[in-house]
Amino acid sequence: MMEKQQLLYEGKAKKVYSTTDDNLCIFEYKDDATAFNGLKKGSFKGKGVINNRMANFIFRLLEKDGIKTHLVEEISERETLVKKVDIIPLEVIVRNIAAGSFSKRYGVEEGTPFAQPTLEFSYKNDELGDPLINDYHAIALGIADRKDIDEIAKIAFKVNDCLKRIFINIGIKLVDFKIELGRTADGEIVLADEISPDTCRLWDAETNKKLDKDRFRQDLGEFGEVYHEVWARLTDHYK
Ligand code: ADP
Ligand code: UDP
Repeated sequence: MMEKQQLLYEGKAKKVYSTTDDNLCIFEYKDDATAFNGLKKGSFKGKGVINNRMANFIFRLLEKDGIKTHLVEEISERETLVKKVDIIPLEVIVRNIAAGSFSKRYGVEEGTPFAQPTLEFSYKNDELGDPLINDYHAIALGIADRKDIDEIAKIAFKVNDCLKRIFINIGIKLVDFKIELGRTADGEIVLADEISPDTCRLWDAETNKKLDKDRFRQDLGEFGEVYHEVWARLTDHYK
């Protein structure tokens, strides 16, 4: 089995370790939660375990739909072996329903559905506070070229179609989500990082109850409970 070597990076939610294989790294999911660019801190016991399992479970479902991901193997309850990629420093955000920063920025009531999904990019840069940028800015910054941007958009909308279906089958509306993409050693752009209730807005389809990190951001309580709820619905339905 692949062992952890050096700690390459400690982020807000995960630690990333090197392995003896240069093309692979190991994620270790932590119990920590942060919001508002790290200003608000919290956690619940077992969050890392549930996000590790949930992200891998979702990536496997997406792979069945032909989406390429960095996932190699879940190696323990908190650890996963992934292909080491060069992360494209963009937070790629798709929205189906207005919420969060979209509602605030454009003055649109939370819960307003869109005629078609939207796509936006934030420049992944903690010092600058992950500013919103457009495709031309990304090209000017040398982050990606036009071909990459088109490919990223195509992947993002395909992930949205698949995720929407995965969640509606378990009585959950996919409001919005963030993904990160990276380039593998052979130059292919694949889905990286994680998809979990930390990175998606998920509302119960009947009641609109929030089943995601907004429970922590907005101090709504039942933070851990709703993650367990999403996990239970996923594993009950997709055996
Ligand atoms: P943050 O950096 O936002 O605090 P995390 O705590 O989740 O986030 O840290 C994980 C880090 O690993 C992020 O910087 C992410 O971009 C990066 N990453 C995700 N997938 C891969 C991968 N396959 N290879 C290398 N780095 C990755
Ligand atoms: N998101 C994320 N990481 C970030 C920023 C956003 O995972 O650093 C997710 C967030 O959980 C939501 C979606 O991207 O599902 C859109 O977030 P938004 O722009 O509304 O920002 P926020 O309200 O989190 O400031």
